[in-house]
Amino acid sequence: MQESLLNSVIKITKNRDIDSLEYSLISTIKEFVDCSEIAVYKDLDVQEELTIERSLSLQTLNDKEFIWGPRQIIDDPEPELVSCLRSACIITVKSNDGVEKRWLPISFQDKPIGAISIVCNELKSADQVLLNAFCRIFENYLFILHENERDKLTGLLNRQTFDKKIKQLIEKQVLKQHKLTKVDCHRKLKQSSTSWLAMIDIDHFKSINDKFGHVCGDEVLLVLAQRMRHFFRSTDLIFRFGGEEFVIVFEPTNFESINEKMSQFLEMIRATHFPFVAKMTLSIGMSRISPYDFPITVLENADKALYYAKENGRDKLCFYEELIADNLIDSPDKGSDIDLF
Ligand code: GH3
Ligand code: MG
Ligand code: MG
Repeated sequence: MQESLLNSVIKITKNRDIDSLEYSLISTIKEFVDCSEIAVYKDLDVQEELTIERSLSLQTLNDKEFIWGPRQIIDDPEPELVSCLRSACIITVKSNDGVEKRWLPISFQDKPIGAISIVCNELKSADQVLLNAFCRIFENYLFILHENERDKLTGLLNRQTFDKKIKQLIEKQVLKQHKLTKVDCHRKLKQSSTSWLAMIDIDHFKSINDKFGHVCGDEVLLVLAQRMRHFFRSTDLIFRFGGEEFVIVFEPTNFESINEKMSQFLEMIRATHFPFVAKMTLSIGMSRISPYDFPITVLENADKALYYAKENGRDKLCFYEELIADNLIDSPDKGSDIDLF
């Protein structure tokens, strides 16, 4: 028991990303605690409202079979789960047939950010101790992983995590496309499942540093990061890519919606009063993320669109696919027709 317990802790702490950490946690609980269901919930913290996602779950069917449940937004969360998240307390409900459901809070910097739920037949006290210990290990390790994925100044995702995150997103899209081609792949469905990448660069940022100093420049970067976090959805991935360069990877949406959203973003930035500089503008290059693209190709495409925006007056939004269609930049493959929007 002790050796396998140690091995499990080693397995948990070997993980380098949060998704695999959740997977290890559930597998470990399943191995040591006799239970029929385990799930990990996260509060996505969308605009200060409780928005709960079940990020992973495991359900035992019989002695040998179990099924993993996919990531899913919970529209109608159980009241016990909500209480657990609001109070950061363990909540237990026992039914008449002796089945027990327990919600254990997961906190991050003393704030509940999620919960683990477990269904079992009466949890023994030794199992309770183990379960609590696994949750604390998970919490501690979550903190380390979270810190490693973040940029120190702005708290946004850092450049190092980009490759991994975009690869995950592209893999998901490939899977989706396979499913769609199986069931009569309607063009509209194809359109709505497109993800987008934005490369954002502050216009004339060097002059802010030159006039007010590097520390003031940092302050401007910090305020911009806060603005971005508030403006975009918490499910959109915002990276600080370099000094004054940011990359956002968006949830699948159609061209019209993303175009409108980004135009509103530029407008909001124009109207923002930043510290030291009354007015600051951004240039944005956008590219579609196609399921069979290499991440580097998507970045290069967005970078070309950004370069075009910089060369053509700044403070604007340019889509790579639109620039190609309008012959404003060279297509990498002039001979073939590109399926644009
Ligand atoms: P453009 O409109 O062409 O993008 O002009 P720019 O001045 O914004 O771009 P340029 O690439 O010439 O300069 C970027 C500047 O960003 C230079 C560098 O000093 C500054 N910078 C990079 N990282 C940081 C940082 O972490 N903090 C601060 N304050 N400045 C940074
Ligand atoms: Mg710049
Ligand atoms: Mg730059």
